[in-house]
Amino acid sequence: MDRTAHRDAPGEMTHAGNEETGGLRVTLYRAAWVLPVASAPIRDGAVLVGADGRIAAVAPRPAIEPPEGARVVELGEAALMPGLVNVHAHPELAHYKGALEDLRFRDWILRLVGSKRAALHDADYDAAARWTLVESLRAGVTTLGATEMSAAALHALRDAGMRGIVYREVFGPDPAQADASMADLRAAVDGLRAHATDLVHVGVSPHAPYTVSDALFAAAAQYAVAEGLPVAVHAAESAAERGLVERGEGDFAPGLRARGIATPVRGTSTVEMLDRLGVLRARPLLIHCVTVTPDDVRRIAGSGSAVAHCPVANARLGHGVAPYAELAQAGVCVGLGTDSVGSNNRLDLLEEARIASILHRARLASPDALPAAELLRLCTLDGARALGLDARIGTLEPGKDADLCAVSLAAPHARPVHDPAAAVFHAAQGTDVVLAAVRGRVLMEGGRVLTLDAEALGARVEDAAGRLRAVLA
Ligand SMILES: [Zn+2]
Repeated sequence: MDRTAHRDAPGEMTHAGNEETGGLRVTLYRAAWVLPVASAPIRDGAVLVGADGRIAAVAPRPAIEPPEGARVVELGEAALMPGLVNVHAHPELAHYKGALEDLRFRDWILRLVGSKRAALHDADYDAAARWTLVESLRAGVTTLGATEMSAAALHALRDAGMRGIVYREVFGPDPAQADASMADLRAAVDGLRAHATDLVHVGVSPHAPYTVSDALFAAAAQYAVAEGLPVAVHAAESAAERGLVERGEGDFAPGLRARGIATPVRGTSTVEMLDRLGVLRARPLLIHCVTVTPDDVRRIAGSGSAVAHCPVANARLGHGVAPYAELAQAGVCVGLGTDSVGSNNRLDLLEEARIASILHRARLASPDALPAAELLRLCTLDGARALGLDARIGTLEPGKDADLCAVSLAAPHARPVHDPAAAVFHAAQGTDVVLAAVRGRVLMEGGRVLTLDAEALGARVEDAAGRLRAVLA
C-alpha cells in the first residue's frame, strides 16, 4: 500500500528551508561496489549527483564520464548505497546508554521517567539529540524516525542537515486528562511545525497503551488524520502491556490503580484496541509488534499501517522476537529501528540488521530468513516506505534525492568480498561507514561529522550523564 499519499508528492521541492542544497557541486562518486537496491549490485560502479542534490545517473564506472567541473570522489574498496533509515529512535535519551541495564520493563520505564525529571533539563535534551545524530551519521544513518517529548530532535536534525520525522509524544493514562493532553499536543505541534522543512517533518505519537487512555488515543488519531500528520505508536511490545489491555492486570495495572485510574479490559489485543479507537485509520507506524496475533497481522496489513521492527531492544528487554516474516508475508511495510540507547545501547543499523537476520533464523529454524539482499532493502527502501518517504529516498535511482552512505570493505574483518551485501551486513559494522550525505550534501566523511561539534557535545552529554548517575545511584 502506498504510504506516501498524505506526505510529500514525489518530486516536490519547496524552497523554504531548502538552504541546505545551496552551493552543491556536481559530484561523481566511484566505488568498488554500488548497491542501488532497486537493481542488482554494480561492480566498479559510479553515482553522479547533480547540483540540485538529486541522483543524475547510476552505472558501471566506464559508463559515466565526469562532467566538466565535477568533483570526483574515489571511495575505493567500499560499497556505496542509499543512506540508512532508522525508523525508530529517541534522540533525547542519549544519556541513558548503559544506565538502565537488566531491569523489568515497568521498572525500566519508572527509572527512566523519574531520573529524567530529577536530573535533566531542556539543554540536556538538546545535547542528547545532537549526540544521537553524531552517532547516527557515523553509522551511515541519514534518515531518522524520532519520537520525542521536546523539540530537541527537530532542531538537531535541521542543524545536522539530516532527514527525519519528529513524532511529538503525548501522554495521559487518565481519560479525564485527555482534553488537557490534546491542548498541549496541539500547541506543541503548532510550535514544531513552524520549524519543519522539506527534510524534517512533524508527526504525533500517542505513546503507548499503558500511558495513553482510550479517549486520548481516539482524539490524537482524529487530530492527526484531520491535519495530515504522520503517527507513531508503541504497540504490542510486552507481556505487561498485553496484561493491561487484555485483562486489566499485569505489571502496569497496580500503579495505575494507585493513581485512581481504572484498568478495564480494553480489547482482545492492542492492535484490535487501536483499530476500535480509529488509530489504524491514521495508518500509523506501529513500533515493536512483538506480541501480535495472526488476526492483528491481518488488521495491520489491511489498514496500510507500517511496523517499526526493533529486534535488539525487544530482545534486550526480554520481550521476545516480533514475527517479521509473518508481517512481511502479509504485505505489511516493515522498517528497522534501534529504539533508544537506553534499551539498545547502540544506533548501529548494520548490526541491528545482522542481529535481526540471526534472530529470525534461530526463531524459524531456517537458514535463509532475511538474506543480505533483504537486509539491504530493510535498512533503506523498506524504512523509507515505513516513513512514507520512498518517493524521495531509499534507492539509488535517477531523480531521487542523493541520500548516500558508503561502507568501507577494506578492513581485515570485511575481506574478502564475495557478495557485497553479505560483506556489508555480516562482516562490516557501523564504524566502517566512511561517508553519509543527504540530498547531495556530505554530512559525515571519514568518521568526522561536518555539521555538528562532536567534541563539545560529548562534554555536555558527559556532564548530564554524571547528574543522571547521581540520581540513579
Ligand atoms: Zn521507543
